[in-house]
Amino acid sequence: MTSDRWAGERARWRNRITHTTIVLVDSHTEPVWLDQDGGRWVTVCDDHGNVINHPTYDLARDHLAAPWGWCDPCQKLLDAYNAKQRQRPESKPR
Ligand SMILES: [Zn+2]
Repeated sequence: MTSDRWAGERARWRNRITHTTIVLVDSHTEPVWLDQDGGRWVTVCDDHGNVINHPTYDLARDHLAAPWGWCDPCQKLLDAYNAKQRQRPESKPR
């Protein structure tokens, strides 16, 4: 999953904790394979391929910034990040 660009792409965010790229897609513009049942707005974890629908754009924006809420591998990356922070309180995220 290393798509450079989506036709319906509205936002793209590289998470500084998980280092994964999350894309917000308008499924009305790119209906090729995206399921619209859960809502028009779709966030995609470009690194792990997980997808989730949202009924509103604002909700999708919230999930864009927090992939660990809906992408399991990102959740594990967040857990690992937090564990590392606890071990080395001096270290800062880049
Ligand atoms: Zn992910």
